[in-house]
Amino acid sequence: MPLPSIRGAWLALLLLAGCAGTPPRPAVAAPAPDAPVLLLISIDGLHPDALGRGDTPHLDRIAAEGVRAEWMNPSYPVLTFPNHFTLVTGLRPDRHGIVHNTMRDAGLGEFRVADREAGARAPWWQGEPIWNAAEQAGLRTAIWAWPGNTAPIGGLRPARWVPYSPEVTAAARADEVAGWVTAPAATRPRLAALYFEHVDAAGHDHGPDAEPTRAALRAVDAAIGRILKALDAHGLAPHTDLIVVSDHGMAPVEPEQYLAVEDMAPLEEAEAVSIGQVIGFNPRPGREQAAAARLLGRHAHHECWRRQDLPPRWRYGSHPRVPAIVCQMDEGWNASPRAHLQRIPLERRKRGAHGYDPALPSMRAMFVARGPSFRSGVTVPAIDNVDVYPLLARLLGVEPAPNDGDPRALLPALKPAADAPAH
Ligand code: AMP
Ligand code: ZN
Ligand code: ZN
Repeated sequence: MPLPSIRGAWLALLLLAGCAGTPPRPAVAAPAPDAPVLLLISIDGLHPDALGRGDTPHLDRIAAEGVRAEWMNPSYPVLTFPNHFTLVTGLRPDRHGIVHNTMRDAGLGEFRVADREAGARAPWWQGEPIWNAAEQAGLRTAIWAWPGNTAPIGGLRPARWVPYSPEVTAAARADEVAGWVTAPAATRPRLAALYFEHVDAAGHDHGPDAEPTRAALRAVDAAIGRILKALDAHGLAPHTDLIVVSDHGMAPVEPEQYLAVEDMAPLEEAEAVSIGQVIGFNPRPGREQAAAARLLGRHAHHECWRRQDLPPRWRYGSHPRVPAIVCQMDEGWNASPRAHLQRIPLERRKRGAHGYDPALPSMRAMFVARGPSFRSGVTVPAIDNVDVYPLLARLLGVEPAPNDGDPRALLPALKPAADAPAH
């Protein structure tokens, strides 16, 4: 049997990729064999002001040896899944489809963060994560629990993916990822990512500045220290670009500052698709006018808009998954079903929350980075979290997919060689 021609092989590859729904996209330049590994770490719920207070010696070291942004603006709504997918796609949630942690889609049904099956269904995720661009360019990726990593988005998944596993300690995660990025060059991923929820979880339970939250931060910082140590031991620190971000900050919540969702709109008038800080209502058929009259406008502790009338600076409301009426709680206020409020005594209510206006200082996210591509000892002005994706694409040498980020925003963080166009 004759060997297939090179053209035939390309055609077969294209067809195969076509079946998966994603045509191969070349790297901007051929990947250099000694190109640095890119490691992206997220510390959920970490406010930038928590650095430099004695809890974060390793994050402080990364910032001192590399760069930090004064702060990073999260995207609307200021929740975990929407913002994590924004960080790896450069798209606002209104464009990438993860419009809330809890959402409904006419064709797909319900999405909840805790529902693993929904999280693994590709059609929910409508952006192209950076690991897709890397894999398409022939760069191996390994992703530990970043939201979206279990779904075959566009028919592709990271070469290695670990689902969210809260039972695995921060130290054990760090050791696993340190093993990936210090493996022999032939098996080392070019892009790795790691997610820590501990600071967010403690921040909700105890408040952003409470001692248990600071203890969680110390534990996560120590875990990152294990990665730094492994890189040093293998002589790989000068060959690893390390970026540590958060998705948002955290505001303190007083236990009395809760509204019952049923007091915003009675159940028979409108259904609450999401609760918490960004409450989405769909009026019941035939009750649209009554629901609108009751909900729309300014209230004592929240404000509601029709989705098409939301403040333009939030760039939110056009995706069909956004409910008809969106209510934004004021900082420090939450809305829960009455039954939930009756069940949870005041002393057991959450003491921290996010999901408030992204312009609030309490909602700010953090960005620090160190490695061969980054300048040393530099603080750059605040960036938007959509600006991270173009940076990731540049560092990997892959063509970014269309996105909402500004590729120039993080150029002042880069060494002159790295800020030169890659093509
Ligand atoms: P939230 O604070 O509601 O925006 O969601 C953050 C919480 O979601 C974290 O504290 C984790 O407990 C949880 N979480 C994060 N990633 C995942 C995931 N991939 N699957 C399920 N739960 C997750
Ligand atoms: Zn979060
Ligand atoms: Zn949270």
